[in-house]
Amino acid sequence: MATAAFADRGADLELVGIQKRFPGFTAIEDLDLTIPAGSFFALLGPSGCGKTTTLRLVAGLEEPTRGRILIGGMDVTAQKPYQRPVNTVFQSYALFPHMTVLENVAFGLRRRKIDDAVGKAHEALRLVELDHLAARKPLQLSGGQQQRVALARAIVNRPALLLLDEPLGALDLKLRRQMQLELKGIQEEVGLTFLHVTHDQEEAMTMADTVAVMNKGRIEQMGPPEELYEAPRTAFVANFLGQSNLLTGNVAGTTNQAISVDVAGHRVVVPRDRARRLAGTVTIGVRPEKLSLHRETPASDPARNVLGPGRVSDVSFSGMSTQYLVTTPGIGTLVVFAQNKTFGPMAQAGDEVWVSWSIAHGFGLDDDPAERPGRAPDDDTRNVAVHKRPALVPERGEA
Ligand code: ATP
Repeated sequence: MATAAFADRGADLELVGIQKRFPGFTAIEDLDLTIPAGSFFALLGPSGCGKTTTLRLVAGLEEPTRGRILIGGMDVTAQKPYQRPVNTVFQSYALFPHMTVLENVAFGLRRRKIDDAVGKAHEALRLVELDHLAARKPLQLSGGQQQRVALARAIVNRPALLLLDEPLGALDLKLRRQMQLELKGIQEEVGLTFLHVTHDQEEAMTMADTVAVMNKGRIEQMGPPEELYEAPRTAFVANFLGQSNLLTGNVAGTTNQAISVDVAGHRVVVPRDRARRLAGTVTIGVRPEKLSLHRETPASDPARNVLGPGRVSDVSFSGMSTQYLVTTPGIGTLVVFAQNKTFGPMAQAGDEVWVSWSIAHGFGLDDDPAERPGRAPDDDTRNVAVHKRPALVPERGEA
């Protein structure tokens, strides 16, 4: 793909002490954020957490109540949207239906009387691999192709910063996965700074170098996707990004390497460098795929935690893995994902089982369990699992 004309690197985006108040509602409390030039940054969070507001502030479509916005070191807070080196690709891509694909992409350049608008439009279309359809009208394209035209139309302006607001939301799952990889490829190739807003955790993890998880107008945790997934800091992040088994107990002992927590009479060990609180009542967690299921008491192993005996309360097959819910007295329900390496489930509902996991895989959260709004039904691992199921089934291509 030709990229010479798009070789300009993106620019750093800095949000400094941003607050955004709407009448009677504070959408963003106090946001400090630096997005380095050339990175693919995803802002991830549930509906209403303030993602779109953040994007609109950067685009200049909203004014911050307080704080400054800098792009490439230049303060753009007072600039109008069209003065900022920013382009936005929205979920509804709004192409002009009466114009060809080429005319759609060249439109902005022509209006600004930029030289060689047509040549530049062809180059942008080559980048999204659609130049062969340049003469078509938008309605003669598939949804994914229209999305790529919208992207070409944004990239052709060579913005320092490209804002993507749920740009793949209207596509079906398969196309969305394909477009995620393509978008990531284009970003790496052109080196622009991408700020992507989404509530789809898998999309954020697949595409972004850095993910910021946003909750109620604040960033709860930010970092590379693997780090956020493997070492979530709060219960919100642990449950919003994938699923987690969370347990609460009192720290009963600490060493240089680990803390041990008394969870309803069971001793559970967490590596010290993965535990954010070292004393008092703590919440610890482990991901469902890190758990192993045993039909008999597992042999004692100082490198593993064991909980049980419990009973399998539900088994659900989802193609590549089977999810078991294991209910243990005093502990509650744990979710176990087991890869289907053999035919048939390894336990049935009602069976007596133990679960174990490598101590290295546990994590300890920062939340003060007393301050958290208790084990609200939404936070309970069983509920999370049950709510997740309808989402998982179409995801895995099952009817
Ligand atoms: P979604 O994924 O649903 O788009 P979001 O995280 O992008 O959600 P925002 O659109 O940023 O959320 O909205 C954040 C909060 O600010 C919401 O509670 C919303 O109701 C509120 N809000 C947004 N715009 C306004 C407005 N113009 N006036 C008052 N409140 C607003």
